Amino acid sequence: MSEVRVRIAPSPSGNLHVGTARTALFNYLFAKKNNGKFILRIEDTDAERTSQEYVDNIFDSLKALGLNWDEGPDVGGDFGPYTQSERFDIYPKYIQELLDKGFAYECFCTPEELEAEKEEASKNKKAYVYSRKCENLTEDEKAKLRAEGRKPAIRFNVARAQRAFHDSSILEFDDLVKGKLHMDTDLIGDFVIMKSNGAPTYNYAVVIDDALMKISHVIRGEDHISNTYKQILIFEALGFEVPRFGHLGMILAPDRSKLSKRHGATAVSDFVEQGYLTEALVNFVALLGWAPSDSEEIKPVDKIAEDFRIGEISSSNSIFEYDKLKWMNSHYIKMLSQEELRAKLKKYLTKYDLSELTEEQFNRMIEITYEPLILLSDITDAVSYFFGGDKVEVDEKAQAELDTELSQDVLKSFIEQAEGWDWSEENLHEVLAEFRAKFKEEKGYKPKFTMWAVRAAVTGRLCGADMVATLAIIGKENSIKRAKAALKTANV
Ligand code: GLU
Repeated sequence: MSEVRVRIAPSPSGNLHVGTARTALFNYLFAKKNNGKFILRIEDTDAERTSQEYVDNIFDSLKALGLNWDEGPDVGGDFGPYTQSERFDIYPKYIQELLDKGFAYECFCTPEELEAEKEEASKNKKAYVYSRKCENLTEDEKAKLRAEGRKPAIRFNVARAQRAFHDSSILEFDDLVKGKLHMDTDLIGDFVIMKSNGAPTYNYAVVIDDALMKISHVIRGEDHISNTYKQILIFEALGFEVPRFGHLGMILAPDRSKLSKRHGATAVSDFVEQGYLTEALVNFVALLGWAPSDSEEIKPVDKIAEDFRIGEISSSNSIFEYDKLKWMNSHYIKMLSQEELRAKLKKYLTKYDLSELTEEQFNRMIEITYEPLILLSDITDAVSYFFGGDKVEVDEKAQAELDTELSQDVLKSFIEQAEGWDWSEENLHEVLAEFRAKFKEEKGYKPKFTMWAVRAAVTGRLCGADMVATLAIIGKENSIKRAKAALKTANV
């Protein structure tokens, strides 16, 4: 096999979609597996719908996912430029070749005329196919239309190309994922390859680029299957080698509809913003349509690369289970070192005054709060009671607990005794054990309730991080002041 060269070719009309990220990943893995090249091409021919902001988002998201490209707009390569809007001088030459070979023709139809054709088709309940009325215009007729000020679009002559290379109207190809696929090309209609303003259309530009960039395999979503037939015909008409195609099943939402924002995040950058780790996201999207041979689902991308085989990709649609992604994310959070974790979590702690804690206290706080995190952003709420000095917000459940006689009794003793305690974590561990034991012995209070009273007063909640470490971080003075605030005045 000649060199494997694959590409991801996003249109910058939005932030990088998680579906495009999966397509990029499968291309990347296929390139890795075959010592090939992974190429990034920006398809921005539709100037109105594209923006630099989205181009930047595509770059940043792919990099964050670790899907680094060998050739692309920023890194260059032998077959650039890699941004379609910079390739506009390349496209006319092949249009001319298609015209010369009779595989394309000028079409002078106005939008109104085309609209009328479509209406007629729909009135007769027929699928619309262009009438081809411009196919055989004479030079005189064309000159007359030009004189009227009409500028032609260029249409591809589907039937002529099909008949030149195939025995019938049926076009078949062997899809890497779906096996043999075919279509009756008489149903396609002569499509526009260059608009009257000179802009190339997607189906045309993509073929020229894939051919000139020597793309060997085109792996993309199955929503492009109908385009593939058109593209194969253009490759053939221009005498280019036709690449192999592989079409991936779609990604659906849990309710089996198209994945959209109403289901949750869809752009990679939104997932990151919400506190998902890109490592978890990559692992998760790899499993949308592919399964590792050992069924071990938690698999970093380098391990996936070892195991990946394109032929094993399922041809059916996959369901995007947000809950499964969350489960994976919590795994990946636990796989980070404390140092990496701290660096990543800081982004979600900007609402707090971190100078309230020493570095040591901050590190300990993360150490005792990270384990239950599902999203990195969960840290914001998980550590709220470490801040605020002598004040803490008390939630409803904690307040109900604080209102009990038992709690008030416990807090009174806590306030009296705590003043004399050495506040190191080690010592607190011991004195609190004695504190609990004494209440159990003297008043029969369950140790759990004794600690709930302290926790409710000092953290304003009934659950949270290790209590001893929490007290040590919050400090003696603030812990006692919070306990005093929880005491009912009558008892003071
Ligand atoms: N720009 C196209 C898209 O974003 C690329 C499709 C292709 O891979 O050919 O859907």
